[in-house]
Amino acid sequence: MALLYKSTRDPENVVSASQAILQGLAIDGGLYVPTEIPKADLDFAKLARLSYQEIAVQIMQLFLPDFSQEELSECIEQAYDQKFEDKEITPLVKAGGQYYLELFHGSTLAFKDIALSILPYLMKKAAQKNHSDKEIVILTATSGDTGKSAMEGFANVENTQIIVFYPENGVSPIQKRQMLTQKGKNTSVAAIEGNFDDAQTKVKQLFNDENLRAKMARNNKVFSSANSINIGRLVPQIVYYVYAYSRLVKSGEIKNGEEINVSVPTGNFGNILAGFYAKKIGVPIRHLICASNQNNVLTDFFQTGNYDRNRPFYVTSSPSMDILVSSNLERLIFYLTKEDSKQTTKLMKELNENGKYTITPKMKEGLTDFLADFAREKETEQTVRKMYEKSNYVIDPHTAVATCVAEKYQEKEELSTVVLSTASPYKFPQSVLQAIKKQATTKEDFAALEELKQYVNRPLPESIQELEHTKINHKAKISAEQMTAYVEKVLNLS
Ligand SMILES: *Cc1c(COP(=O)(O)O)cnc(C)c1O
Repeated sequence: MALLYKSTRDPENVVSASQAILQGLAIDGGLYVPTEIPKADLDFAKLARLSYQEIAVQIMQLFLPDFSQEELSECIEQAYDQKFEDKEITPLVKAGGQYYLELFHGSTLAFKDIALSILPYLMKKAAQKNHSDKEIVILTATSGDTGKSAMEGFANVENTQIIVFYPENGVSPIQKRQMLTQKGKNTSVAAIEGNFDDAQTKVKQLFNDENLRAKMARNNKVFSSANSINIGRLVPQIVYYVYAYSRLVKSGEIKNGEEINVSVPTGNFGNILAGFYAKKIGVPIRHLICASNQNNVLTDFFQTGNYDRNRPFYVTSSPSMDILVSSNLERLIFYLTKEDSKQTTKLMKELNENGKYTITPKMKEGLTDFLADFAREKETEQTVRKMYEKSNYVIDPHTAVATCVAEKYQEKEELSTVVLSTASPYKFPQSVLQAIKKQATTKEDFAALEELKQYVNRPLPESIQELEHTKINHKAKISAEQMTAYVEKVLNLS
């Protein structure tokens, strides 16, 4: 039987891959997961000779069987082209005892470009396949990077609109400016009073608002998501884990079949979940290291089995990980319950109502694929500096969190470790410069860029250089309660 997708909250809700991509979130509030783990025949000696794009075709085909190989190749070629400033797309760099998989060479300088540059193409094909002529409206809550990356992908894509909500005081100046200067008449951005979790919770409510959905249908529109709750975001990310391993084999850094660890700076648990699927299809990963910043709700969860979001929320130097409700964890919970949708629904309801839940000891035994720890702000800063001083390699604060946590485990497990480098240091210049120079700087992000340039061995991307003087196109600032009205106004719903 072909691989399909089912909701974590209703085993009867089964759809094709293309339908799951179109819907984003399941109508019952659950997330779509594959009905089975596909059988992959990963021959890394062979994969080592293939390009990123060629590996992408093979891996994505496994998880998206209702797309033909030709269709996938077409999407992949359009997505992974010269928009990426490195022709390897995600080059693997050795520095300071680890390997860095640089995922930030796309147009917005963060790893989300990998999935979001292909999602619009997948969605367009999915709409054709399902004979849908409805306008697709992408609703997205962002902790800073998804919003810009998704708008870049969807700007001026026919028959789509995209609306982005970001926490007013929760993103870096460069992230904010990137979003506010977005071009494309089908793009809208609004700042929300509150944090990322407020925005994400409200977006989920909008998806499940029957009244709003009926209005959308009357106007021949339908919602979808560009957040990592959409499997169209997760599947393209499985590819780079396979790619990383193939390059380690290719360069002779490891023997084919040798186990590695991968350290992932984690927020919404999307990136690391893609790694979980990569491990399931046979990439020899011993542990996926879940690295958090001071918002260490996931560290506590992996260590104790209690998930509890009732705690202080910190604004840190790694803002894209300032998250207390990691949406994608629901998919892991579903696997831990042995695919029991009733139990999953119950736990998610507890999270919704009390902000916490506890998994059973039996479920906890299923966590052996993961290790988890967190980095304090001071440690993150020290890690940036140490990497620069020792290896002349400049990393951003998110990558530093993953490095710091990886090093804690490297003392215990002597395995080659790949750190996922999720953002360019140029995206967070003030924090990075401060860390390298070991002194506070009064320079704001844009002023710090010039100075940072002398430490980083790569040119300043054009998109960042121009940013300070690009025209602001979006000014909306609203409360979370006003989001429904805002969406109705933007979409002109009657
Ligand atoms: C989004 C993001 C993360 C967290 O990824 P998740 O998939 O949400 O866990 C880490 N680093 C950067 C730079 C990001 O933009």
